[in-house]
Amino acid sequence: MRHGLPDNLSDMVAATLKQGFPLLRFPAPLEARYQNAMSARRLRVQAIGVAFSLPLYLLLFVADHEMVPDSMAQAFLLRLEVFPIVVALCGLTLIGIKNPARREWVFAAFGLASCLISALVSLSSHSVMNTHHLATLNPIVIYAVLLGRFWPMLVMCSGVSVVYFTSAFLMGRLFSDIGVGVGLLLQANITFMLYGCYLLERVSRQSFLIDEQETEMDAELHDATDQLARIAREDALTGLANRRCFTDHLQQTHERACREGEVLALLMIDVDHFKAYNDHYGHPAGDVCLRRVAQALAAGTRQPGGLVARWGGEEFAIILPGADAARALELAEQLLSEVKACAIVHEASQVASVVTLSIGVAVWSPGHDVSQAALLAAADEALYHSKTTGRNRATLHELLLVASSSCGVSEGASQKMVSAT
Ligand code: GH3
Ligand code: MG
Ligand code: MG
Repeated sequence: MRHGLPDNLSDMVAATLKQGFPLLRFPAPLEARYQNAMSARRLRVQAIGVAFSLPLYLLLFVADHEMVPDSMAQAFLLRLEVFPIVVALCGLTLIGIKNPARREWVFAAFGLASCLISALVSLSSHSVMNTHHLATLNPIVIYAVLLGRFWPMLVMCSGVSVVYFTSAFLMGRLFSDIGVGVGLLLQANITFMLYGCYLLERVSRQSFLIDEQETEMDAELHDATDQLARIAREDALTGLANRRCFTDHLQQTHERACREGEVLALLMIDVDHFKAYNDHYGHPAGDVCLRRVAQALAAGTRQPGGLVARWGGEEFAIILPGADAARALELAEQLLSEVKACAIVHEASQVASVVTLSIGVAVWSPGHDVSQAALLAAADEALYHSKTTGRNRATLHELLLVASSSCGVSEGASQKMVSAT
Protein backbone atom coordinates (compact mmCIF):
# COMPACT_ATOMS: atom_id res chain seq x y z
CA MET A 1 0.00 0.00 0.00
CA ARG A 2 1.29 3.47 -0.85
CA HIS A 3 1.34 5.89 2.08
CA GLY A 4 2.15 9.32 0.58
CA LEU A 5 0.31 11.88 -1.54
CA PRO A 6 -1.25 10.78 -4.84
CA ASP A 7 1.34 11.14 -7.61
CA ASN A 8 -0.37 14.13 -9.26
CA LEU A 9 -0.47 16.07 -5.96
CA SER A 10 3.12 15.31 -5.17
CA ASP A 11 4.15 16.65 -8.61
CA MET A 12 1.90 19.67 -8.04
CA VAL A 13 3.60 20.44 -4.72
CA ALA A 14 7.04 20.32 -6.34
CA ALA A 15 5.93 22.46 -9.32
CA THR A 16 4.19 25.03 -7.08
CA LEU A 17 7.27 25.35 -4.88
CA LYS A 18 9.41 25.81 -7.96
CA GLN A 19 7.19 28.30 -9.78
CA GLY A 20 6.15 30.21 -6.67
CA PHE A 21 2.65 31.51 -5.94
CA PRO A 22 2.75 35.31 -6.11
CA LEU A 23 -1.05 35.51 -6.14
CA LEU A 24 -1.23 33.43 -2.94
CA ARG A 25 -3.24 30.74 -4.60
CA PHE A 26 -2.42 27.07 -5.28
CA PRO A 27 -3.91 24.86 -7.98
CA ALA A 28 -7.40 23.76 -6.86
CA PRO A 29 -6.70 20.34 -5.26
CA LEU A 30 -3.68 21.69 -3.41
CA GLU A 31 -5.59 24.81 -2.35
CA ALA A 32 -8.32 22.59 -0.89
CA ARG A 33 -5.69 20.61 1.06
CA TYR A 34 -4.11 23.81 2.33
CA GLN A 35 -7.42 25.24 3.47
CA ASN A 36 -8.35 22.00 5.20
CA ALA A 37 -4.96 21.72 6.88
CA MET A 38 -5.27 25.27 8.22
CA SER A 39 -9.00 25.09 8.94
CA ALA A 40 -9.04 24.29 12.66
CA ARG A 41 -6.29 26.76 13.53
CA ARG A 42 -7.79 29.53 11.40
CA LEU A 43 -11.21 29.02 12.94
CA ARG A 44 -9.66 29.32 16.41
CA VAL A 45 -7.82 32.52 15.44
CA GLN A 46 -10.93 34.05 13.88
CA ALA A 47 -13.28 33.06 16.70
CA ILE A 48 -10.87 34.41 19.35
CA GLY A 49 -10.39 37.55 17.22
CA VAL A 50 -14.13 38.17 17.02
CA ALA A 51 -14.66 37.43 20.74
CA PHE A 52 -11.80 39.73 21.86
CA SER A 53 -12.93 42.49 19.56
CA LEU A 54 -15.86 43.22 21.85
CA PRO A 55 -13.88 44.50 24.90
CA LEU A 56 -11.27 46.14 22.64
CA TYR A 57 -13.99 47.88 20.68
CA LEU A 58 -15.37 49.38 23.89
CA LEU A 59 -12.04 51.23 24.33
CA LEU A 60 -13.15 53.38 21.41
CA PHE A 61 -15.60 55.03 23.82
CA VAL A 62 -12.59 57.03 24.99
CA ALA A 63 -12.16 58.46 21.48
CA ASP A 64 -15.93 58.97 21.20
CA HIS A 65 -15.98 60.85 24.48
CA GLU A 66 -12.99 63.05 23.63
CA MET A 67 -13.76 63.81 19.98
CA VAL A 68 -17.50 63.42 19.40
CA PRO A 69 -19.13 63.91 22.82
CA ASP A 70 -22.36 65.02 21.13
CA SER A 71 -22.70 61.53 19.59
CA MET A 72 -22.41 59.53 22.81
CA ALA A 73 -26.04 58.42 22.54
CA GLN A 74 -25.41 57.02 19.03
CA ALA A 75 -22.07 55.59 20.24
CA PHE A 76 -23.81 53.74 23.08
CA LEU A 77 -26.47 52.42 20.73
CA LEU A 78 -24.05 51.35 18.01
CA ARG A 79 -21.21 50.06 20.19
CA LEU A 80 -23.23 48.44 22.97
CA GLU A 81 -26.25 47.16 21.07
CA VAL A 82 -25.51 46.87 17.37
CA PHE A 83 -21.87 45.75 17.62
CA PRO A 84 -22.54 42.80 20.02
CA ILE A 85 -25.17 41.63 17.52
CA VAL A 86 -22.54 41.84 14.72
CA VAL A 87 -20.08 39.90 16.95
CA ALA A 88 -22.64 37.21 17.71
CA LEU A 89 -23.74 36.91 14.07
CA CYS A 90 -20.18 36.71 12.75
CA GLY A 91 -19.10 34.30 15.51
CA LEU A 92 -21.99 31.94 14.80
CA THR A 93 -21.54 32.19 11.02
CA LEU A 94 -17.81 31.48 11.34
CA ILE A 95 -18.48 28.35 13.38
CA GLY A 96 -21.40 27.28 11.14
CA ILE A 97 -19.53 27.59 7.82
CA LYS A 98 -17.71 24.39 6.96
CA ASN A 99 -15.74 25.78 4.01
CA PRO A 100 -12.56 27.26 5.55
CA ALA A 101 -11.98 29.69 2.63
CA ARG A 102 -15.45 31.20 3.07
CA ARG A 103 -14.82 31.85 6.76
CA GLU A 104 -12.04 34.26 5.75
CA TRP A 105 -14.63 36.36 3.92
CA VAL A 106 -16.96 36.35 6.92
CA PHE A 107 -14.03 37.64 8.99
CA ALA A 108 -13.43 40.39 6.43
CA ALA A 109 -17.14 41.32 6.51
CA PHE A 110 -16.87 41.52 10.29
CA GLY A 111 -13.92 43.95 10.04
CA LEU A 112 -15.78 46.09 7.53
CA ALA A 113 -18.96 46.15 9.67
CA SER A 114 -16.87 47.26 12.69
CA CYS A 115 -15.43 50.15 10.64
CA LEU A 116 -18.84 51.11 9.36
CA ILE A 117 -20.17 51.36 12.92
CA SER A 118 -17.28 53.64 13.93
CA ALA A 119 -17.80 55.81 10.84
CA LEU A 120 -21.52 56.10 11.67
CA VAL A 121 -20.58 57.40 15.13
CA SER A 122 -18.29 60.00 13.47
CA LEU A 123 -20.96 60.94 10.94
CA SER A 124 -23.64 61.42 13.56
CA SER A 125 -21.53 64.10 15.26
CA HIS A 126 -21.40 67.84 14.48
CA SER A 127 -18.22 68.24 16.46
CA VAL A 128 -15.25 69.86 14.67
CA MET A 129 -13.32 66.74 15.64
CA ASN A 130 -15.64 64.37 13.79
CA THR A 131 -13.11 63.91 10.94
CA HIS A 132 -10.37 63.28 13.52
CA HIS A 133 -12.67 60.64 14.96
CA LEU A 134 -12.51 58.77 11.63
CA ALA A 135 -8.95 57.85 12.67
CA THR A 136 -10.62 55.19 14.88
CA LEU A 137 -10.78 53.15 11.67
CA ASN A 138 -7.01 52.61 12.03
CA PRO A 139 -6.95 50.32 15.10
CA ILE A 140 -9.82 48.33 13.65
CA VAL A 141 -8.00 47.82 10.33
CA ILE A 142 -4.75 46.90 12.11
CA TYR A 143 -6.54 44.41 14.38
CA ALA A 144 -8.39 42.71 11.52
CA VAL A 145 -5.48 42.56 9.06
CA LEU A 146 -3.23 41.09 11.76
CA LEU A 147 -5.57 38.12 12.02
CA GLY A 148 -6.89 37.88 8.46
CA ARG A 149 -5.78 36.46 5.12
CA PHE A 150 -4.47 38.66 2.31
CA TRP A 151 -7.22 38.67 -0.33
CA PRO A 152 -10.23 39.06 1.99
CA MET A 153 -8.30 41.73 3.89
CA LEU A 154 -7.49 43.57 0.65
CA VAL A 155 -11.19 43.66 -0.16
CA MET A 156 -12.03 44.69 3.42
CA CYS A 157 -9.44 47.50 3.31
CA SER A 158 -10.85 48.73 -0.01
CA GLY A 159 -14.26 48.80 1.64
CA VAL A 160 -12.83 50.68 4.65
CA SER A 161 -11.24 53.22 2.26
CA VAL A 162 -14.62 53.75 0.59
CA VAL A 163 -16.22 54.15 4.04
CA TYR A 164 -13.54 56.71 4.98
CA PHE A 165 -13.71 58.73 1.75
CA THR A 166 -17.53 58.74 1.75
CA SER A 167 -17.68 59.82 5.41
CA ALA A 168 -15.06 62.55 4.96
CA PHE A 169 -16.87 63.68 1.79
CA LEU A 170 -20.24 63.78 3.57
CA MET A 171 -18.60 65.83 6.33
CA GLY A 172 -17.26 68.18 3.64
CA ARG A 173 -13.69 67.63 4.92
CA LEU A 174 -12.29 65.26 2.31
CA PHE A 175 -9.78 67.76 0.98
CA SER A 176 -9.20 69.66 4.24
CA ASP A 177 -5.93 69.40 6.17
CA ILE A 178 -7.39 66.94 8.61
CA GLY A 179 -9.25 64.98 5.92
CA VAL A 180 -6.05 64.48 3.91
CA GLY A 181 -4.03 63.79 7.09
CA VAL A 182 -6.38 61.11 8.48
CA GLY A 183 -6.81 59.69 4.97
CA LEU A 184 -3.04 59.42 4.48
CA LEU A 185 -2.58 57.80 7.87
CA LEU A 186 -5.27 55.27 7.08
CA GLN A 187 -3.85 54.48 3.62
CA ALA A 188 -0.31 54.13 4.99
CA ASN A 189 -1.56 51.75 7.68
CA ILE A 190 -3.54 49.77 5.14
CA THR A 191 -0.55 49.50 2.80
CA PHE A 192 1.96 48.35 5.42
CA MET A 193 -0.46 46.02 7.15
CA LEU A 194 -1.48 44.41 3.85
CA TYR A 195 2.16 43.97 2.85
CA GLY A 196 2.86 42.24 6.18
CA CYS A 197 -0.27 40.14 5.75
CA TYR A 198 0.88 39.10 2.27
CA LEU A 199 4.30 38.06 3.56
CA LEU A 200 2.84 36.13 6.49
CA GLU A 201 0.46 34.21 4.24
CA ARG A 202 3.25 33.46 1.78
CA VAL A 203 5.38 32.02 4.57
CA SER A 204 2.43 30.00 5.87
CA ARG A 205 1.78 28.59 2.38
CA GLN A 206 5.44 27.88 1.79
CA SER A 207 5.82 25.96 5.03
CA PHE A 208 2.68 24.01 4.15
CA LEU A 209 4.23 22.96 0.82
CA ILE A 210 7.51 22.03 2.50
CA ASP A 211 5.61 19.99 5.11
CA GLU A 212 3.74 18.22 2.31
CA GLN A 213 7.01 17.45 0.59
CA GLU A 214 8.51 16.12 3.81
CA THR A 215 5.45 13.96 4.43
CA GLU A 216 5.78 12.65 0.89
CA MET A 217 9.47 11.89 1.38
CA ASP A 218 8.72 10.12 4.67
CA ALA A 219 6.04 8.09 2.92
CA GLU A 220 8.40 7.19 0.08
CA LEU A 221 11.00 6.10 2.59
CA HIS A 222 8.37 4.08 4.43
CA ASP A 223 7.24 2.43 1.16
CA ALA A 224 10.83 1.69 0.15
CA THR A 225 11.56 0.17 3.55
CA ASP A 226 8.40 -1.96 3.31
CA GLN A 227 9.40 -3.08 -0.15
CA LEU A 228 12.95 -3.89 0.91
CA ALA A 229 11.69 -5.84 3.89
CA ARG A 230 9.37 -7.79 1.57
CA ILE A 231 12.09 -8.40 -1.00
CA ALA A 232 14.43 -9.59 1.75
CA ARG A 233 11.90 -12.23 2.82
CA GLU A 234 10.24 -13.22 -0.44
CA ASP A 235 11.34 -15.49 -3.27
CA ALA A 236 11.17 -13.50 -6.50
CA LEU A 237 10.15 -16.39 -8.78
CA THR A 238 7.41 -18.05 -6.75
CA GLY A 239 6.34 -15.33 -4.30
CA LEU A 240 6.80 -17.83 -1.44
CA ALA A 241 8.92 -17.06 1.62
CA ASN A 242 12.62 -17.36 0.88
CA ARG A 243 15.21 -19.36 2.74
CA ARG A 244 16.15 -16.50 5.10
CA CYS A 245 12.52 -16.03 6.07
CA PHE A 246 12.14 -19.78 6.49
CA THR A 247 15.10 -20.16 8.85
CA ASP A 248 13.93 -17.18 10.97
CA HIS A 249 10.45 -18.65 11.15
CA LEU A 250 11.84 -22.09 11.99
CA GLN A 251 13.87 -20.63 14.84
CA GLN A 252 10.85 -18.82 16.31
CA THR A 253 8.57 -21.81 15.85
CA HIS A 254 11.11 -24.17 17.36
CA GLU A 255 11.66 -21.90 20.38
CA ARG A 256 7.91 -21.63 20.91
CA ALA A 257 7.48 -25.39 20.53
CA CYS A 258 10.21 -25.89 23.18
CA ARG A 259 8.52 -23.40 25.50
CA GLU A 260 5.00 -24.65 25.06
CA GLY A 261 5.78 -28.34 24.67
CA GLU A 262 4.25 -28.64 21.22
CA VAL A 263 5.22 -31.00 18.38
CA LEU A 264 6.72 -29.58 15.21
CA ALA A 265 7.13 -31.10 11.76
CA LEU A 266 9.42 -30.10 8.94
CA LEU A 267 9.04 -31.13 5.28
CA MET A 268 11.82 -30.88 2.70
CA ILE A 269 10.50 -31.21 -0.84
CA ASP A 270 12.33 -31.70 -4.12
CA VAL A 271 10.95 -31.81 -7.66
CA ASP A 272 11.87 -35.09 -9.34
CA HIS A 273 14.06 -35.02 -12.43
CA PHE A 274 13.76 -31.31 -12.73
CA LYS A 275 17.02 -30.90 -14.59
CA ALA A 276 15.57 -33.20 -17.24
CA TYR A 277 12.42 -31.02 -17.29
CA ASN A 278 14.51 -27.93 -17.94
CA ASP A 279 16.53 -29.69 -20.60
CA HIS A 280 13.40 -30.97 -22.30
CA TYR A 281 11.10 -27.92 -22.10
CA GLY A 282 13.54 -25.08 -21.59
CA HIS A 283 14.36 -22.92 -18.59
CA PRO A 284 11.35 -20.53 -18.93
CA ALA A 285 8.97 -23.50 -18.91
CA GLY A 286 10.91 -24.76 -15.88
CA ASP A 287 10.17 -21.46 -14.13
CA VAL A 288 6.46 -21.81 -14.90
CA CYS A 289 6.55 -25.33 -13.54
CA LEU A 290 8.21 -24.16 -10.30
CA ARG A 291 5.54 -21.49 -9.89
CA ARG A 292 2.75 -24.02 -10.33
CA VAL A 293 4.34 -26.41 -7.86
CA ALA A 294 4.75 -23.50 -5.40
CA GLN A 295 1.06 -22.59 -5.77
CA ALA A 296 -0.01 -26.16 -5.21
CA LEU A 297 2.15 -26.45 -2.09
CA ALA A 298 0.88 -23.15 -0.69
CA ALA A 299 -2.74 -24.07 -1.42
CA GLY A 300 -2.29 -27.51 0.17
CA THR A 301 -0.71 -26.18 3.37
CA ARG A 302 -3.22 -23.92 5.01
CA GLN A 303 -2.34 -24.28 8.66
CA PRO A 304 -2.06 -21.60 11.34
CA GLY A 305 1.62 -20.82 11.94
CA GLY A 306 2.62 -23.00 8.97
CA LEU A 307 5.02 -21.68 6.37
CA VAL A 308 5.84 -22.81 2.84
CA ALA A 309 9.15 -21.56 1.46
CA ARG A 310 11.40 -22.01 -1.52
CA TRP A 311 14.53 -23.53 -0.06
CA GLY A 312 16.48 -22.98 -3.26
CA GLY A 313 16.49 -24.25 -6.87
CA GLU A 314 13.70 -26.83 -7.21
CA GLU A 315 13.55 -27.47 -3.48
CA PHE A 316 10.87 -26.31 -1.08
CA ALA A 317 10.47 -26.54 2.69
CA ILE A 318 7.45 -26.46 4.97
CA ILE A 319 7.13 -25.84 8.72
CA LEU A 320 4.10 -27.36 10.40
CA PRO A 321 3.78 -26.39 14.07
CA GLY A 322 1.58 -28.73 16.07
CA ALA A 323 1.78 -31.54 13.46
CA ASP A 324 2.75 -34.95 14.80
CA ALA A 325 4.24 -37.71 12.64
CA ALA A 326 0.87 -39.02 11.45
CA ARG A 327 -0.44 -35.56 10.52
CA ALA A 328 2.82 -34.55 8.81
CA LEU A 329 2.95 -37.72 6.75
CA GLU A 330 -0.72 -37.35 5.86
CA LEU A 331 -0.09 -33.79 4.63
CA ALA A 332 3.02 -34.91 2.70
CA GLU A 333 0.95 -37.53 0.90
CA GLN A 334 -1.74 -34.97 0.19
CA LEU A 335 0.87 -32.65 -1.35
CA LEU A 336 2.23 -35.48 -3.51
CA SER A 337 -1.29 -36.06 -4.84
CA GLU A 338 -2.03 -32.37 -5.34
CA VAL A 339 1.09 -31.74 -7.39
CA LYS A 340 0.37 -34.82 -9.44
CA ALA A 341 -3.19 -33.54 -9.89
CA CYS A 342 -1.75 -30.38 -11.42
CA ALA A 343 -0.85 -32.68 -14.32
CA ILE A 344 2.25 -30.78 -15.38
CA VAL A 345 3.37 -33.02 -18.23
CA HIS A 346 6.96 -34.26 -17.79
CA GLU A 347 7.89 -36.55 -20.68
CA ALA A 348 11.52 -36.69 -19.58
CA SER A 349 10.73 -38.05 -16.12
CA GLN A 350 11.66 -41.61 -15.34
CA VAL A 351 9.06 -41.72 -12.57
CA ALA A 352 5.77 -40.63 -14.09
CA SER A 353 4.30 -38.82 -17.07
CA VAL A 354 3.72 -35.73 -14.92
CA VAL A 355 5.84 -33.71 -12.51
CA THR A 356 6.23 -35.46 -9.14
CA LEU A 357 7.87 -34.70 -5.82
CA SER A 358 10.05 -36.42 -3.29
CA ILE A 359 9.49 -35.40 0.32
CA GLY A 360 11.44 -35.86 3.55
CA VAL A 361 9.59 -35.37 6.84
CA ALA A 362 11.17 -34.81 10.25
CA VAL A 363 9.16 -34.47 13.44
CA TRP A 364 10.31 -32.96 16.68
CA SER A 365 8.55 -33.94 19.88
CA PRO A 366 8.63 -32.09 23.21
CA GLY A 367 11.22 -33.15 25.73
CA HIS A 368 13.76 -34.00 23.05
CA ASP A 369 16.66 -31.64 22.59
CA VAL A 370 17.65 -31.09 19.02
CA SER A 371 18.97 -28.08 17.16
CA GLN A 372 17.17 -26.62 14.15
CA ALA A 373 20.16 -27.68 12.03
CA ALA A 374 19.71 -31.25 13.20
CA LEU A 375 16.01 -31.08 12.39
CA LEU A 376 16.78 -29.80 8.89
CA ALA A 377 19.45 -32.47 8.43
CA ALA A 378 16.95 -35.15 9.46
CA ALA A 379 14.35 -33.89 6.95
CA ASP A 380 17.07 -33.79 4.29
CA GLU A 381 18.12 -37.32 5.13
CA ALA A 382 14.53 -38.47 4.81
CA LEU A 383 14.30 -36.68 1.46
CA TYR A 384 17.45 -38.44 0.31
CA HIS A 385 15.83 -41.69 1.35
CA SER A 386 12.79 -40.84 -0.80
CA LYS A 387 15.11 -40.12 -3.74
CA THR A 388 17.11 -43.30 -3.41
CA THR A 389 14.08 -45.51 -2.94
CA GLY A 390 12.42 -44.50 -6.19
CA ARG A 391 11.26 -40.83 -5.87
CA ASN A 392 7.59 -39.73 -5.99
CA ARG A 393 7.22 -40.53 -2.31
CA ALA A 394 7.46 -39.16 1.23
CA THR A 395 9.69 -40.53 3.97
CA LEU A 396 9.26 -39.89 7.67
CA HIS A 397 12.40 -39.55 9.73
CA GLU A 398 11.29 -39.54 13.32
CA LEU A 399 13.77 -38.05 15.72
CA LEU A 400 13.54 -39.97 18.93
CA LEU A 401 16.00 -38.15 21.11
CA VAL A 402 17.14 -38.76 24.65
CA ALA A 403 15.46 -36.12 26.81
CA SER A 404 17.58 -33.48 28.48
CA SER A 405 16.85 -30.37 30.52
CA SER A 406 17.18 -27.73 27.82
CA CYS A 407 16.60 -27.32 24.13
CA GLY A 408 19.42 -26.94 21.67
CA VAL A 409 21.97 -29.64 22.55
CA SER A 410 21.51 -32.89 20.77
CA GLU A 411 22.33 -35.71 23.13
CA GLY A 412 21.81 -38.61 20.82
CA ALA A 413 19.32 -39.82 18.31
CA SER A 414 17.80 -42.92 16.94
CA GLN A 415 15.83 -42.90 13.76
CA LYS A 416 13.39 -44.90 11.78
CA MET A 417 12.43 -44.31 8.18
CA VAL A 418 8.81 -44.71 7.19
CA SER A 419 8.10 -44.28 3.51
CA ALA A 420 4.82 -43.39 1.87
CA THR A 421 4.15 -43.27 -1.87
P1 GH3 B 1 16.37 -35.29 -8.70
O1 GH3 B 1 15.19 -36.03 -9.18
O2 GH3 B 1 17.41 -36.20 -8.13
O3 GH3 B 1 16.03 -34.21 -7.75
O4 GH3 B 1 17.03 -34.63 -9.96
P2 GH3 B 1 16.90 -33.16 -10.43
O5 GH3 B 1 17.21 -33.08 -11.87
O6 GH3 B 1 15.58 -32.63 -10.04
O7 GH3 B 1 17.95 -32.41 -9.55
P3 GH3 B 1 19.24 -31.62 -9.94
O8 GH3 B 1 19.79 -31.08 -8.65
O9 GH3 B 1 20.15 -32.48 -10.75
O10 GH3 B 1 18.78 -30.46 -10.85
C1 GH3 B 1 18.05 -29.38 -10.37
C2 GH3 B 1 17.80 -28.44 -11.51
O11 GH3 B 1 16.95 -27.37 -11.14
C3 GH3 B 1 19.07 -27.85 -12.06
C4 GH3 B 1 18.77 -26.38 -12.22
O12 GH3 B 1 19.05 -25.88 -13.51
C5 GH3 B 1 17.29 -26.30 -12.00
N1 GH3 B 1 16.91 -25.04 -11.40
C6 GH3 B 1 17.32 -24.53 -10.23
N2 GH3 B 1 16.74 -23.34 -10.03
C7 GH3 B 1 15.95 -23.10 -11.11
C8 GH3 B 1 15.08 -22.01 -11.46
O13 GH3 B 1 14.90 -21.01 -10.76
N3 GH3 B 1 14.40 -22.11 -12.64
C9 GH3 B 1 14.56 -23.20 -13.46
N4 GH3 B 1 13.87 -23.24 -14.57
N5 GH3 B 1 15.38 -24.20 -13.12
C10 GH3 B 1 16.05 -24.19 -11.99
MG1 MG C 1 17.42 -30.76 -5.73
MG1 MG D 1 15.10 -32.49 -8.01
